[in-house]
Amino acid sequence: GCNGNGAAAAAGVVPEIKFTKLFINGEFVDAVSGKTFETRDPRTGAVLAHVAEADKADVDLGVKAARDAFDHGKWPRMSGYERGRLLSKFADLVDQHTEELAALDGADAGKLLLVGKVIDVPSATQMLRYYAGAADKIHGEVLRVSGKYQGYSLREPVGVAGVIIPWNFPTMMFFLKVSPALAAGCTVVVKPAEQTPLSALYYAHLAKLAGVPDGVINVVPGFGHTAGAAITSHMDVDTVAFTGSTEVGRLIMESAARSNLKPVSLELGGKSPLIIFDDADVDMAVNLSRLAIFFNKGEICAAGSRVYVQEGIYDEFVKKAVEAAQNWKVGDPFDVTTNMGPQVDKEQFEKVLKYIEHGKSEGATLLTGGKPAAAKGYYIEPTIFVDVTVSGFHKHTAIRKNASHQRMLTWVCQEDMKIAQEEIFGPVMALMKFKYVAHPRMSQTICILSF
Ligand code: ADP
Repeated sequence: GCNGNGAAAAAGVVPEIKFTKLFINGEFVDAVSGKTFETRDPRTGAVLAHVAEADKADVDLGVKAARDAFDHGKWPRMSGYERGRLLSKFADLVDQHTEELAALDGADAGKLLLVGKVIDVPSATQMLRYYAGAADKIHGEVLRVSGKYQGYSLREPVGVAGVIIPWNFPTMMFFLKVSPALAAGCTVVVKPAEQTPLSALYYAHLAKLAGVPDGVINVVPGFGHTAGAAITSHMDVDTVAFTGSTEVGRLIMESAARSNLKPVSLELGGKSPLIIFDDADVDMAVNLSRLAIFFNKGEICAAGSRVYVQEGIYDEFVKKAVEAAQNWKVGDPFDVTTNMGPQVDKEQFEKVLKYIEHGKSEGATLLTGGKPAAAKGYYIEPTIFVDVTVSGFHKHTAIRKNASHQRMLTWVCQEDMKIAQEEIFGPVMALMKFKYVAHPRMSQTICILSF
């Protein structure tokens, strides 16, 4: 079952925290306002560190440093090979600090230490090395126009890139966005999420050690509506890369459009379905669906939060899924036997519990979980709901043509319940049963119907 005691027992491990100031132009500095904010340990709710709080004035300084480094510095002017070499060194240094970095994310985000060591940090350096290798392979094309005319294209770095990242994968998100920007010769201003600012500051330090010039990477921890908004609306930021909620994605696109029409790349939320058919290997399907929703505490934009199971295997699937959820051990993320740590912060913890209440009050059946898993900290039990209702399908069918011009009936899911519609971002599985029925008027079409 869920193990709250384990959580309390091992919650003492707190890594040493070395960097808590803003990183601007190669130096760790206080915020202009002198303000700090607290980042907390979700295992206990205790303050982990006071971190310098960037606001508009600090973002201005970060952007100015990045602008100068781009307009006048050597980073975009050195050869791609040379940039790649420095980025490879950066990757080596990150690898050498894997344990410490995984522990920082573990304490800051409640992520599993072991997973950090074998997945988050190694994938981050893999990305960094991929782009380090790409740095000297960026080329354009020669285009035949007409007659004796030719055109050519040249790929150039866009300039200063604003990077705004979420808290669920602080390390991978940092490198997913920063690595290609640096490889291309851009300079960056990174705002980590206010819940998890620590590892990004450490990465800035390691980049400097590797020889990445001052001003190329700037890190400005702070809140979204202040520091984040100052980046997206900045006239001297040339592009923004964002991962986070759909709501904030809309704000970012709007703010980019209102300021200098900077292009943005947005990676937003989801409510991903798993569809499990009668001929599936039930044990394997149960295992994979458990991983899909409970891995990283369900704090994944692609979490398998809706699970549709065909009627023939439904009862067996439900029984095994409940057992599997009860065997998914909740506890201290530093304990190697733990499967799932605490939600990232109090706000998310309360938000997930509220969704669970919605599920119950809207009439879904709670089969397992549904409560905090420990007396302190932001632990939630792996939760499964069944009888998650779906509104009538007739209203929501649409006839489309597929690639070979066959008529297809697409069933547009319009689930009634909040837990089937909205991204919970927590360990809550909504299970739904479906069967096939032949559509009365369309011989080739099969219709998926929830009932
Ligand atoms: P989540 O719901 O996962 O916390 P958010 O979209 O709120 O996701 O946060 C993702 C990142 O976006 C965080 O770094 C956050 O500070 C930042 N952010 C939030 N609001 C804004 C905003 N108005 N402008 C720019 N960045 C923002």
